[in-house]
Order: sequence, then structure tokens, then C-alpha cells
Amino acid sequence: MNRTEKLAKLYPEDILRYSDQLTDKEVDLLVELRKVLEEKIEPVLEEHWKNETFPFDEFKSIVDLGLMDNPDLFINREGEHKVSEYFNMYRLYELARTDPSIATFFAVHAGLGYTTLLLGGSEEQIAHYGPKLASFEMQTCFALTEPEHGSDIAGGISTTAIRDGDSWVINGEKRWIGGAGTADVIPVFAKNPETKEILCFMVPGDAEGLGVEKIDGKIALRLVQNGHITLDNVTVKDDTRLPNITSFKDVSKILYTTRGDVTHIASGTHAGALKSALEYGAARDQFGRSITQFQLIQEKLARMEGNVVTALGLSHRLATLQAAGEFAEVPASIAKMQTARLLRETAALAREIGGGNGITVEHKVARFFGDAEAIYSYEGTHEINSLIIGRYLTGKSAFV
Ligand SMILES: Cc1cc2nc3c(=O)[nH]c(=O)nc-3n(C[C@H](O)[C@H](O)[C@H](O)COP(=O)(O)OP(=O)(O)OC[C@H]3O[C@@H](n4cnc5c(N)ncnc54)[C@H](O)[C@@H]3O)c2cc1C
Repeated sequence: MNRTEKLAKLYPEDILRYSDQLTDKEVDLLVELRKVLEEKIEPVLEEHWKNETFPFDEFKSIVDLGLMDNPDLFINREGEHKVSEYFNMYRLYELARTDPSIATFFAVHAGLGYTTLLLGGSEEQIAHYGPKLASFEMQTCFALTEPEHGSDIAGGISTTAIRDGDSWVINGEKRWIGGAGTADVIPVFAKNPETKEILCFMVPGDAEGLGVEKIDGKIALRLVQNGHITLDNVTVKDDTRLPNITSFKDVSKILYTTRGDVTHIASGTHAGALKSALEYGAARDQFGRSITQFQLIQEKLARMEGNVVTALGLSHRLATLQAAGEFAEVPASIAKMQTARLLRETAALAREIGGGNGITVEHKVARFFGDAEAIYSYEGTHEINSLIIGRYLTGKSAFV
């Protein structure tokens, strides 16, 4: 099969062929990823959704592909720490197309956590943690949100870090932290109450005084193990502090760098919802024929396909800008806001096509329908991204 045929088989919904930008090696790795997702991950999703557990054993097959450090991804990119922006886009798209929880777990580690190290860490810290994170020998996450501060975290960090000789003593709580319970190292953001600086520490997952409680009963991303973290006099050495993070401006840079990742996850979730609706519709007969033969169903499918292509266009343009080194807040907010807003429509249309079965977990459309809600709200809610765009348009900040 040549690359055009491979891509057409992988992504029939990519009608405007944004995937043309991928290298041959990247396409081959995505083909392998698809095989692993179909053979190892897909069969266990329903069980893990019901039990609110994560398929750690099966996830190892994804790790083995080396989505962050496979040498094939670094041809002509020697010395780079990150894969190409287009491959990043499609690896997240591909994961989310199968399951947004798997994509989210991956993105918290490979996006938020890893980017925090790359942007905040010293050369020594990057050399120490970087390869271990890229190979998943160590798993990380991203601990910013707090129980009392979500959207207003910029001015609201209440977790404190107080200097004590060559150590720091951290106290506070963090909420919603994806993958925290299994993380080997947790980047924790805290305020120095004396200097008011915002700092970040690579806290070991087994640090004394650190507690992680799993948040149960979610209606979305049920496989992701979100943690409520308590930090009770957690003491870490100064060399765990990432020296290039001293203000919320530095944190914002991480957030708008990785907001593209959420855009790509949203795009993949559009595609997953469409695929599930197509599969369900083709197998469901009413009035003596497959429901996909009815005009009203085809109109829904066409609208979903339109949303997929729109989302892919935003993802792709953002990837292009980021590949050119242009990481900026407003483009990331527009892309995240639009793809996530449209995703609610795509997921709801998929659920409609599922009829009554569309609300049961035995049918995939229900999973995508629930997950769309978390994607709409995490990493900058719809409202917060709107306010960033509104400030750009009017020159007036309307946050408070
Ligand atoms: C599944 C999931 C995974 C997550 N993973 C992580 C993670 O790994 N690490 C991490 O640090 N965080 C994580 N988060 C946290 C996430 O980023 C926050 O949920 C998000 O920032 C919103 O904060 P909040 O939930 O406290 O909502 P709130 O800030 O309480 O907002 C509630 C509502 O009020 C609106 N609102 C708030 N302020 C304004 C305003 N000024 N004007 C208009 N409307 C406003 C919001 O848009 C929202 O609709 C995760 C969240 C979820 C749901």
C-alpha cells in the first residue's frame, strides 16, 4: 500500500487531506498505532469505562511504539526534544479517535508535564528527566488546579512553598490532576508567600506528606484517574525547582503551548464520534433498511463530517504556526474554543443516531458524548477562552 492509500484507509474523514504533511515514517507509525488501538485498547474500553479504571497493562503496547522517542520521528530533527507538530497533532487525533481518555492521559504526560520540564527546567534537569519521560520509564502529570481555584488560578494559587535552607516546604491542595496517583514525579505549582513568585517543583510521587485520592463518579473521561492531591509539609530539595518558572506568565506559556493538544484531542473526538455513529447506523435497520439510508440521518452525518474537517483545519493551522515557533495565546484559545464548542454538536448528533442505545455504555457513541463535556471544560473553559479572545478583540479585559 502506498502512503496515499494508507492515509485514505486511516482517515477517510480527512477529506481536505491535512495528513499529507506527515512524513512517510510518521504515517507508518500511525498505522502501527492503529493496530495496537484496535487489537489491545478497543476491546477493553467498555469494561474500564464501567469500572472507572485505566488499562495500564494494555497501554504498555502504546508505550512500546515510542510515540515520544522513536528514532524514526527524529530524522532531520536531531537534537530536538519533541516530535514534529504534525505528528503530535495526529498522534493525539488518533488516540482520541479511539478513546478521549487514553488521549488525555497521554497528553497530560507528553504535553503538559513534559512541556513544563522543557520550558521550565535547567539543562541538567532536562537531561535528567527528559529521556525517562520520553520513554515513559517515568510517568508525570501537571498539578496546577486547586479545589477553590480553577478558572481564576492565575491570581489564586494558594498552595505555598516556603524556603528552608536548601529545601522547600510545600503545603496545599490540588484538584483534578490526571494521572497523579501513578505519577513518578508531579510538577506542583506553588506560591512563595514572601516574594509572591509562582514556582514549580518536580515532587516525587512517593514524597512524604503527599496524598492522592482518586475522584470517583465522573460522567466523562471515566478511564482517566483524576486525583485530589494534598500536600502536608512536603519537603523537597531546591534542585527539584524548575528555575525558569517564576511567575504566572511562565505558567501561561505552558498552557497556551499545550492548548493545541486539547484542540487535537477535540478533533480526534469529533472523528471518533462520527466513526461510531457510522458503524452503529450501518448495523441498525428500521423500516426494513439501514438507518444510514435515510436522508435525515445522512444530513446529521454530513454535519458531523463538516465539523471534523473544520476541527482538523484549526488543528492543522495551529500545528503549522507552532512548527514555525509561533506559540501564542489567542490562536490557541480560538482553536480550543471552536473545536470544543463544535464537538458538543458532533457528539450530540452521534448520540441521536444511536437512538435509545446511544445512552448506554455498550455503544461507543455514549462514551464520546460524555467525554465531549470534559473536553469542553478542561484546559481553559469555553468562557475563559472567550474572554481571552474578547480581550484581543476589544482591548478590554472582562475577566473580573
Ligand atoms: C477531566 C478533567 C481533567 C483535568 N485535568 C487537570 C490536570 O491534569 N491538571 C490540572 O491542573 N487541572 C486539570 N483540570 C482542571 C481544569 O483545568 C479546570 O476544571 C478548569 O480550569 C475549570 O476550573 P473549575 O472546574 O474549577 O471551574 P470554575 O473555575 O469554578 O468555573 C465554573 C464555571 O464558571 C465559569 N467562569 C469562571 N470564571 C468566569 C468568568 N470570569 N466569566 C465567565 N464565566 C466564568 C467557567 O467558565 C465555568 O463555566 C481537569 C479538569 C477536568 C474536568
